[in-house]
Amino acid sequence: MHAVVLGRTGAADLLSLTEVAPPAVGPGDVRIAVAACGVCFHDIVVRNGTFRRGVGLPVILGHEVAGVVEALGAQVSGFALGDRVAATHHRHVCTACRHCRGGRETLCAERVFLGDAGLNGGYAELVTIGAENVVAIPDGVGFAEAAVTGCAIGSELNAIVDVGRLMAGERALVTGAGGGLGLHGVQLCRLGGAFTIGITTTAAKAAQIAAAGADAVVVTSPGADFSAEVRARTAGEGADIAIDNVGSTLFHPLRRSMAEGGRIVLVGQLGGEFASFSPAQLFLRGLSLLGAKGASRAQLETSLRLVAQGRVRPVIAATLPLDAAATAHRMVESGQVAGRVVLIPPGR
Ligand SMILES: [Zn+2]
Ligand SMILES: [Zn+2]
Repeated sequence: MHAVVLGRTGAADLLSLTEVAPPAVGPGDVRIAVAACGVCFHDIVVRNGTFRRGVGLPVILGHEVAGVVEALGAQVSGFALGDRVAATHHRHVCTACRHCRGGRETLCAERVFLGDAGLNGGYAELVTIGAENVVAIPDGVGFAEAAVTGCAIGSELNAIVDVGRLMAGERALVTGAGGGLGLHGVQLCRLGGAFTIGITTTAAKAAQIAAAGADAVVVTSPGADFSAEVRARTAGEGADIAIDNVGSTLFHPLRRSMAEGGRIVLVGQLGGEFASFSPAQLFLRGLSLLGAKGASRAQLETSLRLVAQGRVRPVIAATLPLDAAATAHRMVESGQVAGRVVLIPPGR
C-alpha cells in the first residue's frame, strides 16, 4: 500500500509517499481503507522531534482517521465490511482496566497511540485498529469531517465538559482560538452557554473566531499579557474557565486572566518551553490547574452526534492529497491555517 513513512525526525521535506506492506489484521482488529486523515499539531511535534514520548521510528503519522471497513478480525462483532467508520486516536486500549471501564480509556496503561508508535498511522491507504477504538459515522457526516471530529472536537469536549465542567453563564477563555482545536473549543463553549472569549495572535483569524461563536476576540502578540483585555470584557472579574490549546508560553497571562476560583484546563503544548510558577499564585486565588488528554470512544460518539445535528461544525481549512503531506505540515506548522488540514489517500 501507499503510505507516508517518516524514518527520522526533522523538516517537513522528510515526508514522502512510499510503498509499504499493508498492516496485518489481528483477531480483534478492524482494517480501514482510509478515506481521510487529519493533520494534527501532534504530528508536527512528532515529526520535528519536539515530542518523543512513546514515539517509535520509522513511523506512519496520523491519528485522525475515517474510512471504510476493509477487513475484520475473527473476534470482531458489530461491524461489517463497507461500514463507514471513524477512529479514536488509539490503536489499542485494554478495555478492562478502571480507566477503560470508567470511560477514560485515554488513561489506560496499555494504550497504544495511533500514528506515533510505529508503522500504524493514518497517512496511509490502510490502517489497522482495535475494534474497541472504532465507531460508525452517522449519516450525513462526510469522511473529512468525521476524521477530524475525534481529536479537534472530542478533545475539546473532554476538556470543556468532562474535565472543565463548564456551566451556562460562565465566562470562558479559549487560547489558540483560530487553530484546529480552538475553533471547535469556541463552538463548544458557546454551545454550553458560556460568554466566550477567543485569544489569538493572528488578526486575520479574528472574523472566523467570531463566526465560530466567540462573543469577544482578543488579538494579542506572542508573549504579550492579554489579561487586562480579558478583564475589560468580563466586568473586571476575569474568566471562570480557560481552555488552553497553546501551553506554557501563555501560562502567566492566562493565570492573570482568571476570576477567583477559576479553572485552567491544559489541552495543548505547541513548543518545548517550560513554565515556572509559585503554587501560591494559584491556591491563594483558588485557581485549579486541570489536564485533559484526547477523547474517549464515548466522547467521539458524542462529538459525531453534535456534528450530525449541526450543533458543531468541523472547520476544514484545506484537503490535500496524501502525497502533499509535507505541504500540509508546513501549513499547519506556520500557525496561519484557520481550522484543520486533511489528507486524502490516492484514489479516494
Ligand atoms: Zn489530533
Ligand atoms: Zn485499559
